[in-house]
Parts: sequence; C-alpha cells; structure tokens
Amino acid sequence: MARDPRYDLLFEPLDIGPVRAKNRFYQVPHCNGGGYRDPSAVAEMRRVKAEGGWGVVFTEQVELHHTSEITPFIELRIWDDDDIPMLARMADGIHEYDALAGIELAYSGINGPNLYTREVPMAPTALPVRTFTNDPVSARAMTRRDIRELRLWHRDACLRARAAGFDLICLYGAHGFGVIQHFLSTLTNHRDDEYGGSLENRSRLMRELIGECRDAVGDRCAITLRLSLDEITGELGFTNSEVRDLVAMHADLPDLWDLAHGSWEDCSGPSRFREEAAQENLVSGIKALTGKPVAGVGRFTSPDVMVRQIRSGILDLIGCARPSIADPFLPRKIDEGRVDDIRECIGCNICITGDMTMSVSRCTQNPTFMEEWRRGWHPERFPSQGDSGPVLVVGAGPAGLEAARVLGERGYNVVLAEAGDEIGGRVRRERQLPGLSAWGRVADYRQYQLGRMANVDIYLDSELDADQVMDYGFPHVAVATGAFWRRDGVARFHVRPLQPDPGMPVYTPDDLMRGNLPTGRVVLYDDDHYYMGGVLAELLVQNGATVTLVTPSAHVSEWTGNTLEQGTIHRHLAALGVTLILNRAVSGIRRDSVDTVCSYTGESGLLEADAVVLVTAQQSDDRLWRALAAREEDWEDAGIRTVRVIGDAEAPAPIAWATFAGHRYARELDSGGTGGALPFRREVVNPA
Ligand code: ADP
Ligand code: SF4
Repeated sequence: MARDPRYDLLFEPLDIGPVRAKNRFYQVPHCNGGGYRDPSAVAEMRRVKAEGGWGVVFTEQVELHHTSEITPFIELRIWDDDDIPMLARMADGIHEYDALAGIELAYSGINGPNLYTREVPMAPTALPVRTFTNDPVSARAMTRRDIRELRLWHRDACLRARAAGFDLICLYGAHGFGVIQHFLSTLTNHRDDEYGGSLENRSRLMRELIGECRDAVGDRCAITLRLSLDEITGELGFTNSEVRDLVAMHADLPDLWDLAHGSWEDCSGPSRFREEAAQENLVSGIKALTGKPVAGVGRFTSPDVMVRQIRSGILDLIGCARPSIADPFLPRKIDEGRVDDIRECIGCNICITGDMTMSVSRCTQNPTFMEEWRRGWHPERFPSQGDSGPVLVVGAGPAGLEAARVLGERGYNVVLAEAGDEIGGRVRRERQLPGLSAWGRVADYRQYQLGRMANVDIYLDSELDADQVMDYGFPHVAVATGAFWRRDGVARFHVRPLQPDPGMPVYTPDDLMRGNLPTGRVVLYDDDHYYMGGVLAELLVQNGATVTLVTPSAHVSEWTGNTLEQGTIHRHLAALGVTLILNRAVSGIRRDSVDTVCSYTGESGLLEADAVVLVTAQQSDDRLWRALAAREEDWEDAGIRTVRVIGDAEAPAPIAWATFAGHRYARELDSGGTGGALPFRREVVNPA
C-alpha cells in the first residue's frame, strides 16, 4: 500500500549539523536493562529499529569516563579504546538501513555514586549524591583543574565515538542525570566562581564542551544537546523560563536541541497520568528562539499528532523511546500505508522496570524487545509452520491472544475459544479502571490482527471443559485461562487464610471490576504492591467511599517505583483524600472493624470499617489444565500431542509476562525445545 500523503511531512529529510536524517523519526536514547552486560542484544535491538525505518537511532546513556558511573544501573560505557569495537557494532548495524547512529555521552556527576570504580564522585558543588537508591556517598566539588580534565575527557569520548562510527553525539544534560544540567541548575550548582551564579556562568561549561567537542569531531559528527524543559523542583532548579533564556542566549550553539520533559518520571510519565504530547506547553515557542532543529518527546504513537507537532512549528523531529520499543516498525508502517498495523505503546512503563531492576527490559506490547539477539525473535518475521497443527487456544486474554496471533502469523490453523462474550481477558476489565484505558490497546491491536487472519477462528461464549477439549482432539492445546483474585488475604504477609467475620462484607478486585462497589468506610488492604491497590482506591473514592489504604510496605504501590510512578500515585491518592497507612498489615476482619498490626513491631491497632477490599494476590485458574493433565494417558487416543498451560493460568504476573508467554509458546511450537539447555544466547566474558 502507498503512504497517505498526509504523512509525507514525516518523511522529509533534515540536516543536523554536518549529517542528514532521512526522515523525522528520531529514536531518542533509552535504557534497556542490558547495556554493557548484554551489548550484542542491545546492538541487534537498535539494528532492528533502523530496519523499522527510524531515521535516527540512539544508544542509551553511555558513561564517558570511569570517574562517574551509575552502578547498580546497567548502561553502556566508552571509558577507553576497548569499548570501541562493541559500540562500532551498534553503529554498523544502524547504518545498514541508512539511519544515523547517535550516541548519548553522560558524565553523571552528582548522579553517579561510583559503587563499582570506587572513585570519589565529582559535582559542581559538594553534596550527597542524588540517586534512586539514596546511596550514602557524597560528591566533592570540582576544582577548576577538574573542570579542565572533564573537558578533555569529553573530547576523548567524542573522538572514540567518532572512531566507532557514530554520526550524532549527544551531550546529556537532562532528567537530572548529566553534569551539564548539574551546572545549569541552581539546585546543584552553588558555586561562586565563573561557573556559578548567573545563567551566563552556569552555562559556561556547556558552551566549552560543545565548542571543544565540535572542534574535535564537528566536521563529521553533529553535536546535539539534551536538556530537561523544566526540573520542576520549585524555586530552585532549572525552570522552563530559564531553559528559554538559555536557548535564546545560545540559539545556534548545538546542532540540535533535544528537549526532554523534566525529571525522568515526568518525561516517561505513564499513560495513567500523562496524555500523548504531554510536554507540548513546555516546548511550544522554543523553536522560534533557534535556527537549529528541535526534537522532543511525548509518547507519540499517532501519525496525525506527529504531523501536527511539525506543521504547527513545535518540533522538527519526533522523538520516541517507548513507541519505538512497542513497535520498532512504526515509521515503516506509516510509510507503507499500514497505520492500522501500528502496535501502540500502552504507557505502562514495564520497559523501564528492566532498567530499574537491572534485568533485561521487556515490553507488554512487543515481547520480542531485547530478544532479537538472545532468542532470534524478529518483531515482524516469524518462522513458518512446523510439522503439526492445528492448535486450540483456550482463553482470549493477553496470553491467548498473543499465542493465537503468532501462531496465525506462522501459518497454523488456530481456534481461539473464549468463555466470555468479548476478547481481552483481564485487559477487558482493567481498561475500565481509572487511568488505564490505554491498556486496552493490548486487546485492540491483537483483535485487529486476528480479524485479518483467515486461518484463525475466534469463538466467544465458549467456556470449554476437559471433555470438550478431549473430544475436539486438536493436536496442540494451549490453556490460557488466566487467574482470579484471592478472597482469603493470602499473599506475602499472610501465607495462611484470614478468617473474616461473616458479618463484614469482603470484596476482591474482581468484584469491584464487575461493578460491585462498596460505599461508606472502606479499608483496602494492599499486599500486592503494584498498581491495582492504588487504582481501586481511586475507583472507590469516585464511587463515594471513604477509603483507608493499609499496606505492610513503607510505600504505597511500592513496585511502581520501578515504573517511575510511585511518587505520583502517593500524591494522587493523598489529593483524593485517601488515608494512607503504611508499614501495617490487616491481621483480622471483625463484624464492624479490622485489626491491624505494625509490620516491624507487631504492635496492634483497630480501624472501624463498613467493608474490606483485599488486594492481595491472584490465583491461577488452572482447573482446565489440571483436568486435562490428569488424563494425559488418554491424549494420544484423542489425537492430542501436547497440552501447555501459559500466562496467568500458569503463574499470575503483570500483563507483559502473559504476552511473553503467549509469544514464546507460539514461536517454540514444533521447534523440538532445547532439552533443558539454556533457551537463549548470552554474552560470556572471555570464553576459553
Ligand atoms: P492471561 O493474562 O494469562 O492472558 P486472562 O485472565 O487475561 O489471562 O485471560 C484469561 C481468559 O480465559 C479470560 O478471558 C477467560 O474468560 C478465559 N477463560 C477462562 N476459562 C476458560 C475456559 N474454560 N474456556 C474458555 N475460556 C476461558
Ligand atoms: Fe510502552 Fe509498556 Fe511497551 Fe514500555 S512496556 S514500550 S510503556 S507498552
């Protein structure tokens, strides 16, 4: 199909300093939880994005000198010449598809605890390091001599980046993570020399670095600057109006202004709290202050919104991290007139948890992310059908839908049987909850894809039991029947059921999602620690209840620290009037009250209540799987070769685990398995 001419603008080339981007799709730097530990996986992931049509593809942040590193987080390094070959592989892969390769150089300063190198951190001003983990380490103030060395280290890193083949070199001064920002901001720069005080002085280092980096490599590489549009730290800090003053003062200094939102939490705000193009107010008008191109982000997945950003003079380049993760082929799909095939990011931030937990990142929508090299999974290409089929998939939640989609792509005949009158499983329910409507894209994308496959049939209102499955006799059966929320309080704090007084109404998340909502004084007990407790507290408030959220953790929705939304959730619930009781568990449920206990001391308390909501744990709905497993000796006579349980029916977890399970099942069917051997490649240091 041909491209819709409405989107031609997105495919106009643009000069960035000495290099030319072939289009306006600018994959901004983003982490991936792999970094220096998994460079081959990172290189292949970036190469696939270039194949998908991105005009510019960046690395994640690359630590430019060993005196500043951000252990325990795993990014890339360009500490000496030994790092060049690995980085060159990335740049080469990106160049295979005529994309520009960008590298983001970071000196972490006050954000680098140096737990690995044991160097003393250096920053504009002596302060404790500012890290996610509040490491008990302080930075010393840089002397003039240190600053001179810092400039040389930048220059050396630029020369190495050029040797590795990069076309764009981005100096990182955003998200609180780069030393340029630490100098610019009055929050972290209290100096009284020529590098502190006025904006002119605070921007001196930035000017010196850009000038010297350009002198070193500017004939071949563009020098770009990545800044936060607003630190949003109140009076102190680098505000949006100062950013505008800075751009006006240095209009044409960098070859491109790459403008991020604020902190990383703002810039990567989840869809629960931020719309597409959320930074528009902060960035509007800046382009008029400079003759150089401006790139910006906003979780852009709609080509119409992208075109509007350019046509209305807000941006020149459409910066994307998460949308490029969820669909590495987004530009190509627009180019080929296949806009409906775009797998839109849902804004869940599961990808970020890979970085925060130092594991390899995963994506709810794109299970092939970071598996391109490890497992050889390509987001758009699939192995053809193996030597058997057809396949019965039971349950049309995220696991079943993804299994059916990938089996369909492989060419299998598939029957997808769903008990309910709609597909989607948990997503069908959860998309109705406050702030989670974008999560419905998990089902919408797959529904559209399956609707176009002649070899996949979906049967709704089809709750199957073991007799039916045996009678049908499909050679392969995938049981993706999901999970339900427990009603007995068992999770982490309690591993044995609570015994509630029958006079107290007790609800589960499933009850609430079915529209059965308590009013009056509701105690919500959260021993799940991810989003569900906080989301349901909001739903209850919307329904008129007075809500007290009790959790044994020190933080409300604790695991959302990994999705960068924990602070926002706390503020949001407090503003809604939810009473937050931390470090306490519900230990008993009486007729008109609940007992609570301090998680540390065991000290007890009592809370009056009209109803209790238990957000504790999910339990697999594996009844069908167990019934089939019990009849394994009859499978052969029934014509069944394999029965597998996948997704939440195997073990409940976030949605991304279910799409991964469905994808893996479908990829590996008829592959023979690995016989217990490692199912993916890994990077082995100095193999003998
Ligand atoms: P997952 O996250 O693993 O995909 P979900 O709970 O989202 O799991 O989806 C499971 C789906 O399976 C639900 O839509 C549910 O209605 C369906 N289901 C459960 N049991 C059966 C069954 N016996 N036959 C058909 N569909 C079923
Ligand atoms: Fe988007 Fe979620 Fe995928 Fe991240 S994990 S790219 S937020 S869908």
